[in-house]
Amino acid sequence: WVAASFTKQQFPLARLSSDSAAPRTPHFDVIVIGGGHAGTEAATAAARCGSQTLLLTHRVDTIGQMSCNPSFGGIGKGHLMREVDALDGLCSRICDQSGVHYKVLNRRKGPAVWGLRAQIDRKLYKQNMQKEILNTPLLTVQEGAVEDLILTEPEPEHTGKCRVSGVVLVDGSTVYAESVILTTGTFLRGMIVIGLEMHPAGRLGDQPSIGLAQTLEKLGFVVGRLKTGTPPRIAKDSINFSILNKQTPDNPSVPFSFTNETVWIKPEDQLPCYLTHTNPRVDEIVLKNLHLNSHVKETTRGPRYCPSIESKVLRFPNRLHQVWLEPEGMDSDLIYPQGLSVTLPAELQEKMITCIRGLEKAKVIQPGYGVQYDYLDPRQITPSLETHLVQRLFFAGQINGTTGYEEAAAQGVIAGINASLRVSRKPPFVVSRTEGYIGVLIDDLTTLGTSEPYRMFTSRVEFRLSLRPDNADIRLTLRGYKDAGCVSQQRYERACWMKSSLEEGISVLKFIEFSSSKWKNLIPEVSISTSRSLPVSILKYFTIDKDLLCNNTLCEFINHQTTYESVLFHQLQEIKGVQQDEALQLPKDIDYLTIRDVSLSHEVREKLHFSRPQTIGAASRIPGVTPAAIINLLRFVKTTQ
Ligand code: FAD
Repeated sequence: WVAASFTKQQFPLARLSSDSAAPRTPHFDVIVIGGGHAGTEAATAAARCGSQTLLLTHRVDTIGQMSCNPSFGGIGKGHLMREVDALDGLCSRICDQSGVHYKVLNRRKGPAVWGLRAQIDRKLYKQNMQKEILNTPLLTVQEGAVEDLILTEPEPEHTGKCRVSGVVLVDGSTVYAESVILTTGTFLRGMIVIGLEMHPAGRLGDQPSIGLAQTLEKLGFVVGRLKTGTPPRIAKDSINFSILNKQTPDNPSVPFSFTNETVWIKPEDQLPCYLTHTNPRVDEIVLKNLHLNSHVKETTRGPRYCPSIESKVLRFPNRLHQVWLEPEGMDSDLIYPQGLSVTLPAELQEKMITCIRGLEKAKVIQPGYGVQYDYLDPRQITPSLETHLVQRLFFAGQINGTTGYEEAAAQGVIAGINASLRVSRKPPFVVSRTEGYIGVLIDDLTTLGTSEPYRMFTSRVEFRLSLRPDNADIRLTLRGYKDAGCVSQQRYERACWMKSSLEEGISVLKFIEFSSSKWKNLIPEVSISTSRSLPVSILKYFTIDKDLLCNNTLCEFINHQTTYESVLFHQLQEIKGVQQDEALQLPKDIDYLTIRDVSLSHEVREKLHFSRPQTIGAASRIPGVTPAAIINLLRFVKTTQ
């Protein structure tokens, strides 16, 4: 075991070569490039799986930096966080140690779509994340900018494909590894934009990655361009909060991690958020100054779901848009105006902001800006996040066209696990659409690709009632322990206890299924109209493990499960059907362009050739691959198996 260490020592200079006789030290099992939200999860997941791992990133003091919003979670995103946590990932636990305002969104709807969310203290999050990363066994952290990849000849069993075997840093030194994960976020040929000014940067204050972008293009990867942006930061003491709507946090707070019963801070000590709105004057400033705003003029696609104020004004004119004033941290003097992402010249940003109620005297401390960057068409990666083109090279996070910390973290944990499994020549760990939001995210990316920053939503998920935030551990922890080795013994045992207790609770409830009149006679104080949706409180009338009734999380879980009981039964049948398709693997070496024994149009062949789906289910979700083509493909696969 090597305790995690951060050292500024540079590795010995080695010659860049594809020759297998070249010196191959230092050598790691897995190298992760980038210490953002994907990189931190990838590096720790690989280390948890037992791989000697190196995290290479520009600066150690920016590890865990929240580039944009000071919040984690939300609708769909909260599910991803619970799933990352179920695989023993970091972000949920770190959020439970760093949040300043916890609120569950969508409370009025069913528990399947509740969105766990919290405002996070940026400084605390970074500190806690760095502490965790630097104390992870088997993980070494090193500062450095990676410029190039080292490739070796194709392995005999995969003719035609080269293999990554290490990286070259900006000073020319080399480090070797069995697997490499790229998690470079918005840094590939990143350009920052404010007004008409553009300059190269990965994000404000950070250099972009040019060499690595050129390497990927030279290797033949299909590269696209996306853009996103961030709002200005406002001085807290320049805002008149007294005239605005105040939002208080939930009491009690709902933690993100299954391992926590509470969060680090009491609800009464948490910070409030405030709501204000834009007005026609804001629209006027935006529209009058479009000629001074090159980010808006660019044809590159921006985020549909976290759009800039300019795109909101252009797409939905004459509407008042919400602006949430969110705290940046316990002792921060800054406020983050969510909903006001903007790339107007700095002086116009302040002019626009001071038109808004409560912000009449607002001081802008840091202007909003846009960023444009390269991303890689995610149809070039498999569901294990390994690239089709280069063996043992994995991509995770914003590099794959997603936006958001949670989407990045979810991919990071999967890439870390698979990079490690690849080293030990074990089968990949793939989460299917029927098992988790992570599965939906990765399946959407790898089969459909994306032309705008992809964000997770509950509406993208077919089996919402089964894939709830409260049961993510039952869905994934057991598999994470057995198939990936990324879950601790303690967490595994906790998930096993939850699963058996849930089954016990439900079996008791099923056993006591009576008509409502019989209920009244039996337990008069309980009013119940149907035997479905039985309140857990009923359990106390029956012989049952008392520990079970003391655990609030479990009781809530049993309530949710029984509420959805009949629908879940039908969904389970559907899931079984889908899983049968999912299980039907397409041959890895199939050449869709030339294969003769199956009738497919030229268009369908090209689509299958490009996306290389691994299963019939994945092939069926590629736009333009017709049901008739799928039936032909299905027949073909069945006859060749
Ligand atoms: P990042 O968190 O960006 O981390 C990349 C890491 O890679 C950095 O540590 C960097 O130093 C390192 N790195 C890069 N190249 C190299 C190299 N060659 N060698 C070594 N290290 C390297 N998300 C939203 O959900 N909503 C938003 O509105 C939103 N707006 C954003 C606005 C801006 C300006 C930015 C920059 C991001 C925004 N995001 C937004 C996105 C959110 O920050 C990202 O989705 C998330 O951080 C992506 O995580 P990641 O790990 O992929 O990349």
